[in-house]
Amino acid sequence: MQSKGKPAQTVSERTYVSKLAEQPCVVCGAEGVEIHEFEQGAWHAAVPLCPPCHRGPQGWHGSRQRWTLRKMDMVKAINTAVARAWEAANG
Ligand SMILES: [Zn+2]
Ligand SMILES: [Zn+2]
Repeated sequence: MQSKGKPAQTVSERTYVSKLAEQPCVVCGAEGVEIHEFEQGAWHAAVPLCPPCHRGPQGWHGSRQRWTLRKMDMVKAINTAVARAWEAANG
Protein backbone atom coordinates (compact mmCIF):
# COMPACT_ATOMS: atom_id res chain seq x y z
CA MET A 1 0.00 0.00 0.00
CA GLN A 2 2.83 2.37 0.85
CA SER A 3 4.89 3.22 -2.20
CA LYS A 4 7.92 5.40 -2.69
CA GLY A 5 7.39 9.15 -2.92
CA LYS A 6 4.12 9.14 -0.96
CA PRO A 7 3.99 10.84 2.44
CA ALA A 8 3.77 8.40 5.35
CA GLN A 9 0.28 7.80 6.67
CA THR A 10 -0.67 9.41 9.96
CA VAL A 11 -1.75 7.15 12.83
CA SER A 12 -5.38 8.12 12.20
CA GLU A 13 -5.09 7.32 8.49
CA ARG A 14 -3.37 4.00 9.17
CA THR A 15 -6.04 3.00 11.69
CA TYR A 16 -8.85 3.94 9.31
CA VAL A 17 -7.29 2.11 6.35
CA SER A 18 -6.79 -1.04 8.45
CA LYS A 19 -10.51 -0.90 9.33
CA LEU A 20 -11.41 -0.49 5.65
CA ALA A 21 -9.31 -3.53 4.79
CA GLU A 22 -11.62 -5.64 7.02
CA GLN A 23 -14.70 -4.59 5.01
CA PRO A 24 -16.12 -6.33 1.95
CA CYS A 25 -15.87 -4.65 -1.47
CA VAL A 26 -18.17 -1.59 -1.53
CA VAL A 27 -19.27 -2.42 -5.08
CA CYS A 28 -19.97 -6.18 -5.09
CA GLY A 29 -19.49 -7.34 -1.49
CA ALA A 30 -16.60 -9.73 -2.18
CA GLU A 31 -14.03 -10.39 0.54
CA GLY A 32 -10.30 -9.89 0.07
CA VAL A 33 -10.07 -6.19 -0.75
CA GLU A 34 -7.50 -3.64 -1.81
CA ILE A 35 -7.70 0.01 -0.76
CA HIS A 36 -8.34 2.55 -3.51
CA GLU A 37 -7.75 6.28 -3.00
CA PHE A 38 -9.85 8.44 -5.32
CA GLU A 39 -7.47 11.28 -4.55
CA GLN A 40 -3.85 10.46 -3.82
CA GLY A 41 -3.16 10.64 -0.10
CA ALA A 42 -6.85 11.21 0.77
CA TRP A 43 -7.00 8.11 2.97
CA HIS A 44 -10.13 9.09 4.85
CA ALA A 45 -12.02 9.06 1.54
CA ALA A 46 -10.50 5.78 0.38
CA VAL A 47 -12.63 2.67 -0.23
CA PRO A 48 -12.16 -1.12 -0.10
CA LEU A 49 -12.47 -2.80 -3.51
CA CYS A 50 -11.98 -6.40 -4.59
CA PRO A 51 -9.35 -6.78 -7.35
CA PRO A 52 -11.95 -7.11 -10.19
CA CYS A 53 -13.86 -3.97 -9.05
CA HIS A 54 -10.56 -2.15 -8.56
CA ARG A 55 -7.99 -2.96 -11.23
CA GLY A 56 -9.90 -5.47 -13.37
CA PRO A 57 -10.88 -4.66 -16.99
CA GLN A 58 -14.41 -3.74 -15.77
CA GLY A 59 -13.19 -2.12 -12.55
CA TRP A 60 -12.59 1.49 -11.52
CA HIS A 61 -9.28 1.69 -13.38
CA GLY A 62 -10.87 0.02 -16.42
CA SER A 63 -14.27 0.41 -18.12
CA ARG A 64 -16.06 0.66 -14.72
CA GLN A 65 -18.80 -1.64 -16.01
CA ARG A 66 -18.95 -3.46 -12.65
CA TRP A 67 -19.67 -0.07 -11.05
CA THR A 68 -22.33 1.10 -13.53
CA LEU A 69 -24.15 -2.27 -13.42
CA ARG A 70 -24.56 -1.81 -9.65
CA LYS A 71 -25.33 1.93 -9.96
CA MET A 72 -22.27 2.66 -7.87
CA ASP A 73 -20.25 5.85 -8.12
CA MET A 74 -17.50 7.60 -6.19
CA VAL A 75 -19.75 9.39 -3.68
CA LYS A 76 -21.85 6.27 -2.98
CA ALA A 77 -18.69 4.19 -2.60
CA ILE A 78 -17.19 6.59 -0.05
CA ASN A 79 -20.53 6.88 1.76
CA THR A 80 -20.84 3.08 1.99
CA ALA A 81 -17.29 2.67 3.29
CA VAL A 82 -17.68 5.45 5.89
CA ALA A 83 -21.07 4.11 7.05
CA ARG A 84 -19.64 0.60 7.51
CA ALA A 85 -16.57 1.91 9.35
CA TRP A 86 -18.82 4.01 11.56
CA GLU A 87 -21.09 1.04 12.35
CA ALA A 88 -18.09 -1.15 13.11
CA ALA A 89 -16.68 1.45 15.50
CA ASN A 90 -19.93 2.45 17.19
CA GLY A 91 -22.05 -0.69 17.04
ZN1 LIG B 1 -15.97 -6.00 -5.96
ZN1 LIG C 1 -7.11 2.32 -7.33
